Amino acid sequence: MPLDRRKACTNALHHHTHYALLASPSAALQTYLTPTQFHDAMLVRYGREPRRVPAYCHCDGRTPLTLAHSQTCAVGGGVIGRHNLLVDELSHLCATATTDSPFSCMREEWLVRPGEQGHPNGLRSDVRVRGLDRPGDVTHIDVRVCHPAAPTYATRSTQALLEGAEREKAGTYKEVCEQQGASFCPFVVTTDGAVGERGKELIQKLAKAIAHKWRINLSRAVTYVRIRVAIALARGCSACIRTPHYRRGPGGGGAADVGGAFAWRNPGVGHGAFRAGGRQRGGGSGGW
Ligand SMILES: [Zn+2]
Repeated sequence: MPLDRRKACTNALHHHTHYALLASPSAALQTYLTPTQFHDAMLVRYGREPRRVPAYCHCDGRTPLTLAHSQTCAVGGGVIGRHNLLVDELSHLCATATTDSPFSCMREEWLVRPGEQGHPNGLRSDVRVRGLDRPGDVTHIDVRVCHPAAPTYATRSTQALLEGAEREKAGTYKEVCEQQGASFCPFVVTTDGAVGERGKELIQKLAKAIAHKWRINLSRAVTYVRIRVAIALARGCSACIRTPHYRRGPGGGGAADVGGAFAWRNPGVGHGAFRAGGRQRGGGSGGW
């Protein structure tokens, strides 16, 4: 079995990547995945190559559109869009656990303004939540989504990958947060749903607050939080597979630029629909 598939199966056994499977499809609870999104989530869970996609990525028309490339291609906004979907979901969960007000929960608040304290581009956490530990306490959360089979992580175990990413995040944010009397929590997840230790602590805190607020037991609240995170990830990963990775700006975007990308891996199924979607999104707006 190839290494990336073996890694995905190990994660499925030991890292609780099954939460997308537990969700009852519900439009009201926003836990509905389309058949394609569900299918893509299973591809990611078991490290299988996507079907009904172009043979080559639109980013350069030469790179094979493998699962690993679709999840790591920096062109077209897929990776940042997937990250933002998860940040939206975490922000929603933080608001649910506290109160739905900017006082309790805020997205992308400046920790350091650009040019200050040796940060030319400034520093912002993804979510700032107040009152999660104790009333008034401030926690800054920053999210990272890693694909375990990405070439950069090929030789690292999922555990080492999650720990390394958490350390890296803490190195960037922890000191600045502590100077401001706040705590910092990295939320590192893999595309198949493995969560780092600090992320698990955050899930427990969110679940505890939600369980108290809704008067449900803790295990039910933990499952609720993990399902919401898994569904957001599944949507993001599917979007990375299905959205053409066009370059933004002049010279980028447009089917004619990347003719090589139209050699289909599985021609004949869904071809016309995909091409039509690609033209509409030409220019790489992403839209996620
Ligand atoms: Zn690409």
